[in-house]
Amino acid sequence: MSDTIFSKIIRREIPADIVYEDQDVMAFRDLNPQAPVHVLFIPKKPIATLNDAAAGDADLLGKLLLAAATYAKSEGFAEQGYRTVINCNEDGGQTVFHMHVHLLAGRRLIWPPG
Ligand code: AMP
Repeated sequence: MSDTIFSKIIRREIPADIVYEDQDVMAFRDLNPQAPVHVLFIPKKPIATLNDAAAGDADLLGKLLLAAATYAKSEGFAEQGYRTVINCNEDGGQTVFHMHVHLLAGRRLIWPPG
């Protein structure tokens, strides 16, 4: 997988507003937020798209979602609600090819999305 801007954030070569980090996961605020809360949860292991995740990545994928839910609870908006999104490839609207979970909250989110 080629290097992406998210790998540079993990290596702290470029700045980001990091809100959570552990051995496997990093989370930082989206540069172009689509809601009052817009945080990206990324695996430190570079996986380009959800298509590239293997069976051995199951724990890691679970950790991303659990980290998002834990963050929502710790920030106090879990009960009000939020949305998690993984965009995949062109039709999914993916622009950064280091897979990530978007966590969106703080406003009523429309469904279905555009
Ligand atoms: P996606 O379109 O699903 O691949 O999402 C990529 C997201 O990364 C977009 O919402 C961008 O606004 C966000 N993004 C791109 N570069 C940065 C950056 N340097 N720091 C934080 N978020 C970024």
